Amino acid sequence: QNMSADKEAAYRAGLEASLAAGADVLSAGGSAVDAVQAAVIVMEDDELFNAGKGAVMTAAYEHELDASIMDGRDRNAGAVAGVKRVKNPILAARAVMDQSEHVMFAGEGADAFAESVGLDMVENSYFTTERRLKALERVLETQSRADADRHGTVGAVAIDKDGNIAAATTTGGMTAKAPGRIGDSPLIGAATYAQNGVCAVSATGHGEYFIRVGVAKTICTRVELAGDSIDAAAQNALGQVADLGGDGGV
Ligand code: ASP
Repeated sequence: QNMSADKEAAYRAGLEASLAAGADVLSAGGSAVDAVQAAVIVMEDDELFNAGKGAVMTAAYEHELDASIMDGRDRNAGAVAGVKRVKNPILAARAVMDQSEHVMFAGEGADAFAESVGLDMVENSYFTTERRLKALERVLETQSRADADRHGTVGAVAIDKDGNIAAATTTGGMTAKAPGRIGDSPLIGAATYAQNGVCAVSATGHGEYFIRVGVAKTICTRVELAGDSIDAAAQNALGQVADLGGDGGV
């Protein structure tokens, strides 16, 4: 409701392009994990979204990006937190999953790992846009965040022809976040979870609350153990977030 019609059309076009990229992978017989990765890359590269180029800025006028990906087939997962140089954070998360024995890398070590596996690296300023710079200056001056200052995280879930499911999430976090602050987006179980036969979740919202509730895993656990529908499980987890004072969506 706070958007002009032109801006809404641009966002919808970005979402359609993302959906098409994921659908192309699936219709060519590709896996759910490749599909969510393809869908997220489109949004990381689209400066409208708070992920990759166009991400929000920290209080130190930098970008620190978080991403995670999970394969529901074997519950393998990969994540990076606080990366500053890898062009597509979701590819770094994927590389952690596929090419390391670990689940999560943070900070300089995460960028170094991404570089070591041959991913495209950029200057931190590559991610900066006029719009996010202005938003940062406004938040620093007024010391308050509008909802839009922590919206725009991207995510995708998919199911492929073999019935495998996957989830992926990338964010720049919140405008004017303290350097080093990590939100829910790179945390498996908070913003991202996928388990075959249960569900796949990607979340966005006020990360501190999503971490405390463990939103993504709570939803999957309610579906698996309590027999909730996906909708009821999601409402329950988001209700817990709201009860603690946070908000967001899945
Ligand atoms: N969950 C993200 C964070 O707290 C922000 C968002 O989803 O908009 O970093």
